[in-house]
Amino acid sequence: MLAFNSASSNNRGMHEAKKALDTLAVHAGREDLTDLGLHALPIDLSTTYPLTSVESGGEAYDTMASGGRAPEGGTALYARLWNPTVARFESALAQLEHAESAVAFGSGMAAASAALLAFTAATGNRHVLAVRPLYGGTDHLLASGLLGTEVTYCAADAVTESLRQDTGLVIVETPANPTLDLVNIRSIVDQAGDVPVLVDNTFATPVLQNPLLHGAAMSMHSATKYLGGHGDVMGGVIACSEQHATMIRPVRALTGGVLHPVAAYTLHRGLATLSVRVNAQQRTAARVAEWLQEHPAIATVFYPGLDGDPAGVLGEQMHGSGAMLAIRLAGGYDAAAKLASSLTLFTHAVSLGGVDSLIEHPAGLTHRLVDGDARPDAGVLRLSIGLESADDLIADLERALAA
Ligand SMILES: *Cc1c(COP(=O)(O)O)cnc(C)c1O
Repeated sequence: MLAFNSASSNNRGMHEAKKALDTLAVHAGREDLTDLGLHALPIDLSTTYPLTSVESGGEAYDTMASGGRAPEGGTALYARLWNPTVARFESALAQLEHAESAVAFGSGMAAASAALLAFTAATGNRHVLAVRPLYGGTDHLLASGLLGTEVTYCAADAVTESLRQDTGLVIVETPANPTLDLVNIRSIVDQAGDVPVLVDNTFATPVLQNPLLHGAAMSMHSATKYLGGHGDVMGGVIACSEQHATMIRPVRALTGGVLHPVAAYTLHRGLATLSVRVNAQQRTAARVAEWLQEHPAIATVFYPGLDGDPAGVLGEQMHGSGAMLAIRLAGGYDAAAKLASSLTLFTHAVSLGGVDSLIEHPAGLTHRLVDGDARPDAGVLRLSIGLESADDLIADLERALAA
């Protein structure tokens, strides 16, 4: 049985004054709409903004180039520095993550790159400590050293001994791609000491996990996945303190990985149903995981809580097991490749977190560029469970596995 499963996020201990996540998901970032005489979120497509004087424009420029927010009532100057529609989405996501601020990007990888540059190149501390496994793109970005970083991969209990004088950032993902390994964030933070810890929170979403409440400096999302939730918008976002946001924004302004305002609108709209989607998808995932566990063609099911809770995080750090799972087929690569292409309700495609179910082969696709020894087993498939009925998804798997 699952150690923890399908809990609603509604009832967990929140600060008295703070609204429940379900309420925030619908209302955050919309506080001023009534005063503006609006009901739906407005979209501002301006690339440039009128100036009242050279002096006030220059002051706004100085503020934003050094990482500050657009001056209240002043000009936003230029869309690579600031966009009000993006800022609304950032405000909403920050509230869901119990963060002071958030900085949004054109993709999850743009967000990861900006965090790396802000805490390594910009500080002179070029060493990054990364706890494997990680998303394939993040792993490859670090392994390639493309951004001038030097990486050490370490186990979750070996952070302190792997730190260097010049370690600028610790990166961890939980649940991690693709086998849903869980990491205890508080333990990583304690081991990291003064070095900021970035948690990739894409799989958990703010509905199930808030890394900042466990001491992490930053919670990063590929917004392309659950936050958007419909497979039709790319984005990335980092929730953090205003001090850290001030370090990250200049990198976004200089490297240009901005989020388009229409994408920000779509992501912000997606937040309203995030909690409903994640809770429903999680319920279905738990049923599918338990069914798969009984199937003779499946050697292993990877789903948080199915095999106990070695990291000791379910219920406390992570409020549910999520809607991602992985399976290792007894028949190895051939059986996995065949299954991926024989399902009808699961689309054979990379990505995750949308309303429809997806299945993909990590070793051959998302984790193709990861070093051989750290690459997932060739018999593993990763499933992203959508909003279809559990019975129909199970019937699809049963038919394809029998073939
Ligand atoms: C997809 C993904 C990323 C990268 O995000 P993009 O939006 O594709 O750039 C990073 N981390 C995780 C866990 C992901 O699933």
